Amino acid sequence: MTDQPASPEAFAMTPIGVIESDFPDKFGIPRQPGLADAARASLVLTPPFDDPLAVRGLEAFSHLWLTFVFHLSPEQAGPERWTPLVRPPRLGGNARVGVFASRSTHRPNRLGLSLVELLDIDTARGVRLTLRGADLVSGTPVLDLKPYLPWAEARPEARAGFAPEAPPTLAVSLAPEAEAVLARRPDGDSLRELIRQVLAQDPRPAYRRGAEERLYGVRLRDVDVRFQARSDAAGETRLEVVEIVEA
Ligand code: SAH
Repeated sequence: MTDQPASPEAFAMTPIGVIESDFPDKFGIPRQPGLADAARASLVLTPPFDDPLAVRGLEAFSHLWLTFVFHLSPEQAGPERWTPLVRPPRLGGNARVGVFASRSTHRPNRLGLSLVELLDIDTARGVRLTLRGADLVSGTPVLDLKPYLPWAEARPEARAGFAPEAPPTLAVSLAPEAEAVLARRPDGDSLRELIRQVLAQDPRPAYRRGAEERLYGVRLRDVDVRFQARSDAAGETRLEVVEIVEA
C-alpha cells in the first residue's frame, strides 16, 4: 500500500518563525517558562508561514505550546554524540538522571517545548505573536506552535520526579548605582522587575554556588547585569546587583 519507509532515519524541518526576546544569551534564562513574567518575547513568523490565515482563531486561546530547536546547545548533543545521562541543575549539578527524564537542552534532537502565554497577534505586516513568560533566547528557531488545551493538558495531580515544585527563589537587591541606571531608562520599571525575577531564580551554575566573591553577568535586553552573592546576618544568600552596564 505504502511506499513510505517504515522508520525514516531523519526528518528535515523548516522553522516557521523565530523568537525575539529579552534574553540575548542562554545564561540567566529561567529554566522553565512562566518563571519570569516580565520577560518580553515575540514569535515572528517567517515566509511562507507568515500568512495571517494560518493564525486565524488563535487569538481566542490564552496559551500556546511552542516546539523549537535549542540551536545554541552544542551540536555534539545531537544524534551523533549525545550522552544518556545529564546533570540537572535542580539536583545540584552532580547527580545524574537519564536525558529523557530531564528537560535538559543537551538532548539528541535538541527539541524544546515551552508553554507560553499569548498576549497579542499582530498581522499588520506578516505575523507577530506577543508572548509572556517565554524561556527562550532571542533568535531561537520555532518549529511549530499549537494552542494549549487545559481540559486535556493541565494535570495538577501529576508526579514530577526530582522537580516536584517550582524551584526556591533568592532575595534580590539592587545597589544605588544600579538603581541610578534604571531611573533614567524609559523601561526602568519593567527592567527592574525582569532583573528581580531572573536573579531570584539563581542563575549561578550549581557547582559555583558558595564562591561568594565571584562577579557574574547576565545579559537582559541591551544591558549587562553584574551581580554578586551576599550572605545576610542570618546566613541567607541574597543576590545583589552591583552594576548595570548599558551596551
Ligand atoms: N521549556 C523548555 C526549555 C527548558 S530548558 C523545555 O522544557 O524544553 C530552559 C533553558 O533553555 C534556559 O535556561 C536557556 O538557558 C536554554 N535555552 C533557551 N533557548 C535556547 C536555545 N535557543 N538554545 C539553547 N538553549 C536555550
